[in-house]
Amino acid sequence: MGRAGWDDEYDVVVAGSGAGAMAGALAAASGGLRTAILEKTGLLGGTSAYSGAAIWLPGTRVQERAGLGDSAEGARTYLRALLGDDEAERREAFLETAPELVDFLEKDPAIEFCFQAFPDYFDAPGRLDAGRSFVPVELPAERLGDLAALVRPPVDRDRAGRGHSASGPLAQGRALIGRLLLAITATGAGDVRTRTALTDLVVEGGRVTGVAAMTADGPVRLRARRGVLLAAGGFESSAALRAERGVPGGAGWTMAPDGANTGDAIEAAVRAGASTGLLDQAWFCPGLLTADGRPAFTLGFRGGLVVDASGRRFANESLPYDRMGREMAAAVGPFHLIWDSRADGLPAISVPPLRAGEQLASGAWVQAATLPELAELTGLPADALTGTVERFNGFAAEGADGDFHRGEDAYDLYFSGGRPCVVPVDRPPYLAARVVLSDLGTKGGLRTDADARVLDGSGRPVPGLYAAGNTSASFTGPVYPGPGVPIGSAMAFAYRAVQDIRR
Ligand code: FAD
Repeated sequence: MGRAGWDDEYDVVVAGSGAGAMAGALAAASGGLRTAILEKTGLLGGTSAYSGAAIWLPGTRVQERAGLGDSAEGARTYLRALLGDDEAERREAFLETAPELVDFLEKDPAIEFCFQAFPDYFDAPGRLDAGRSFVPVELPAERLGDLAALVRPPVDRDRAGRGHSASGPLAQGRALIGRLLLAITATGAGDVRTRTALTDLVVEGGRVTGVAAMTADGPVRLRARRGVLLAAGGFESSAALRAERGVPGGAGWTMAPDGANTGDAIEAAVRAGASTGLLDQAWFCPGLLTADGRPAFTLGFRGGLVVDASGRRFANESLPYDRMGREMAAAVGPFHLIWDSRADGLPAISVPPLRAGEQLASGAWVQAATLPELAELTGLPADALTGTVERFNGFAAEGADGDFHRGEDAYDLYFSGGRPCVVPVDRPPYLAARVVLSDLGTKGGLRTDADARVLDGSGRPVPGLYAAGNTSASFTGPVYPGPGVPIGSAMAFAYRAVQDIRR
């Protein structure tokens, strides 16, 4: 142990290794600041690595290259329409930073993005039909070499403990984390420390000067001369914290990697005087339950219907997933997706992908020749289920969903390829799968200002302490404006934190 009880000294200590943490670490390390990246598990990337890595950063050179006509002004109109002006300061900081951040990232030879159409989630002024998010270009595994084994694999392989597939490039969230890791490594100033869990903050004279962490070899104290950036996810995997704060869903139903995000960084900051907000909020989604009790994030329903405990529909199933999740939170489950053999497999996208044969064999999905038999298998009231499907088939024949207007929004049609997404369910065998209220992470946490400085109970910054991603309370409140907002905002505020640290 070195002077004053520190085991190691850095300029910046970053807790977590999701997209925000890695972007912040790159900004620090590329500016010559000696930077530690602490990751609790043996793998980098957290939920960010599982993700599609759509990144909602408006008005940047990526949209410009795509000829999209996106602008900060259009995005401002859209965000104002959805969020009002409550968070005007952080909104403006986000909009101002987006183009600068993308310039900074793409300047690095390891990082490249491309536009990918994915509609914004609300029909509001400023919405763009093609959306305004982009994704990282796939990354050949050879470019990462041995480092590839450090990146958390896709969700199904990870849950099975299988690592990356031997062939093929890293895609989506893995490409984003892999590219950021490559870039950080090339700076020579980033120290990636896996199996190192932040347990506490060290506060001296009212300033956060370092962290306490647990490693396989025991506890360590790491000094952070310039600042600590907390970007260690939310508390989605803590059943106790979810219950205490009233987050609907369940710790076992989150899409975050098993046991990773248990709110450690938020709790440590609260002990250091930080305040919190939005604690009952998450980025919600429907999840199809698999036989091991884990969910598959499901979106883009292009067929089938979802019923509640009474056997009735309660929402437009094709709604953007967070909005569908919020409808589920207000309804009474258990919920079931009902579909038929007309669909070629699951009439939706799921992450991980689910194959009918496996799901039926495992008992996670059931099938029957008639709807009353399907009701029997699922415990749904037979008359109500039959009536609901008949009514739905009537809407399909008319070409209009008289109850929930499914198929009328650009988002619904994007996923059905422009075809109607209210299609009859009338071709046996009928299938059913349990749908649970899942999430992509909680979005409540530490209150922060426009520079991602963590605020205390009186609204003053806690010196030396910054937060981004799901460790912080999102500037989007209870709204999920469009694809890539979690990652885009995590990266933007992590980057701003480092700009502030460098001032
Ligand atoms: P994470 O990415 O989960 O990173 C947190 C990390 O911190 C983890 O590695 C964890 O192990 C580590 N950690 C936790 N505690 C500690 C500790 N005490 N010390 C050290 N490390 C710790 N969002 C988008 O914006 N675009 C998308 O396209 C998108 N697609 C998605 C697709 C899927 C299938 C899923 C599951 C999610 C998707 N999301 C998407 C949501 C998004 O991935 C997450 O909300 C976001 O990545 C969270 O980022 P984060 O940095 O807060 O947390």
